[in-house]
Amino acid sequence: MNGLIFDLKHYAVHDGPGIRLNVFFKGCPLHCLWCHNPEGISFQPELMLMPNRCAHCGDCVRSCRYEALSQNSEGVVSVDRTRCTLCRDCLEACQREAIAMAGQEMSVDEVVNEAEKDRIFFEQSGGGVTLTGGEPLAQPAFAASLMGELKKRSIQVALDTSGYADPEVFLQLAKKADLILFDLKIMDNKKHRKYTGVANDMILDNLKSLDKLGIPVWVRLPLIPGVNDDVENLEAMANFLSGLKLIKMINVLPYHKGGVEKFYRLGRDNEFAVYTPPSEDKVEAVIEFFKNKGFRVKKGG
Ligand code: SF4
Ligand code: SF4
Repeated sequence: MNGLIFDLKHYAVHDGPGIRLNVFFKGCPLHCLWCHNPEGISFQPELMLMPNRCAHCGDCVRSCRYEALSQNSEGVVSVDRTRCTLCRDCLEACQREAIAMAGQEMSVDEVVNEAEKDRIFFEQSGGGVTLTGGEPLAQPAFAASLMGELKKRSIQVALDTSGYADPEVFLQLAKKADLILFDLKIMDNKKHRKYTGVANDMILDNLKSLDKLGIPVWVRLPLIPGVNDDVENLEAMANFLSGLKLIKMINVLPYHKGGVEKFYRLGRDNEFAVYTPPSEDKVEAVIEFFKNKGFRVKKGG
């Protein structure tokens, strides 16, 4: 059983308790405009160009049998993605690691072997493996198999999800997790559709359904100025969440511009490049707002 994975991050400390191995699933049904991991959106592997590392030597261009790469008069490399076959020859040719491939097939055993390397850290810190992305629920068979194998080995598993999945699939996978990290973005359905590309009905229903399972949930709120930081949205979130028993914490995740450069590396525009992160005062005000409503709140994951 193979999955498409775009990164494995050892010793992660922001996506669940303790020290963790984050497994990034490639492919997501949402396309949030502020996405920090845009290389996780497409369900296909993608070439990423890092111009800041490029020495303009042209080795990659010469290595490409498909004439997918070219250089302009200043030596800047670009890729014609309609020609690229993802053969990886250019990655081999580049001595400066200025070209990378986002997304590779991995088997359950390969991921589990990576997790086993960190077992001592998991045990000492109360950590484990976090399935994240992208959207783990969009590769349900692989996610289920991986979670099952990790559980068999008594490795704690957190599932980081947008909640956008068929309810049956959602519950089947949620049951296998020790902790759910559930992204909650925008309560207004029309606005949710505008900024993420999908409606939020199924997401909210899935979040509600977790109450039946008895699995703890940390809600993750990406705080995006001008998108979801208004009182109306925050009040609606607080009202919705206060009706649920298993919400153990709200993580406020301030928007940052870490994903902007990645959009360019993938050859895509990012209209969020003009947005600025929220001020410290705003972040503190939102944290206080939820604390005053009786929630446990933390900045970051
Ligand atoms: S991955 Fe292969 S086809 Fe694509 S640009 Fe590189 S060498 Fe050319
Ligand atoms: S081989 Fe690497 S360093 Fe040379 S032009 Fe291509 S991307 Fe730049």
